[in-house]
Amino acid sequence: KRAGKKTKIIEMMPQFEKPTVHMRDPERVEQIICGLIKGGASKLQVITDFDMTISKFAVNGKRCPTLHNVIDNCKLVTEECRQKLLQLKHKYYPIEIDPHLSMEEKYPFMVEWYFKSHSLLVEQRLEKHKLPEVVRESDLVLRDGYEQFFDRLHQHNVPVFIFSAGLGDVLEEVISQARVYHPNMKVVSNFMDFDDKGVLKGFKGELIHVYNKHEGALRNTDYFKQLRDYSNIILLGDSLGDLTMADGAPNVENMLKVGFLNDKLEAPCLFSKPVTGGQLLSERERNLTRDACVSEMWT
Ligand code: C5P
Ligand code: MG
Repeated sequence: KRAGKKTKIIEMMPQFEKPTVHMRDPERVEQIICGLIKGGASKLQVITDFDMTISKFAVNGKRCPTLHNVIDNCKLVTEECRQKLLQLKHKYYPIEIDPHLSMEEKYPFMVEWYFKSHSLLVEQRLEKHKLPEVVRESDLVLRDGYEQFFDRLHQHNVPVFIFSAGLGDVLEEVISQARVYHPNMKVVSNFMDFDDKGVLKGFKGELIHVYNKHEGALRNTDYFKQLRDYSNIILLGDSLGDLTMADGAPNVENMLKVGFLNDKLEAPCLFSKPVTGGQLLSERERNLTRDACVSEMWT
């Protein structure tokens, strides 16, 4: 009888009925959602990735740019530099999404990619005041429903932590232009460092790449400590590294981990019983698998 009642809650949410939504353990998801509902807005916080989570992965089969790609493809970058950045992407992106490598194995390659690509951007002497125009001219698109999502969270004062291994300045510009950058939101990302003439000279703080979000999360323990009473978390991401974004939260009651399956769909290693590549996941990664996944392109 209890199980019957439980199932009804998910059945009342048409979003979960979509063929693109996959749940490892629907009962567990029910339980978590019940916890989230019970706690209400005053106990809820959202921790989210940005690239390919808040922004779209593809539109009509065409890949959309990441925050980095907004700069890579912009008119401020020379053709030679663009080619170099593209070569780096062709070398390192396949490593980022390779289901046969562990996060530990990918880690040094990501550091290398970011170091090389950020150095190339610094060489371009980008000007801060040109960023708004570059963002306006880019093909970056936010996921359907972003406006309602952020506006609702703002309305109910739900803290939103956007944790991106992309470029913070571009991110802030994107959400400002989309008119969804509200005071309940905090952006942690790689921020550019400009000289007094507004020319890019480097990057501020510790590098955040796809597989060191755990370290970044721990550096933000002060933020999470302030939100101690917000013990219900919705975690959104697309990469396995995103699963560590809540590591700084000291007091978790219910956490719903949602993954967007974008690339490499033939190896759904984000579930507890992966079809392929799963046996290669480390124990830690296995423990981190998601509760629910959304795959728009998986049919
Ligand atoms: O916001 P998020 O953490 O997802 O941003 C990281 C993304 O940026 C990665 O998925 C990676 O593919 C992309 N990236 C890029 N160019 C770089 C470095 C990272 O497009 N130079
Ligand atoms: Mg991402």
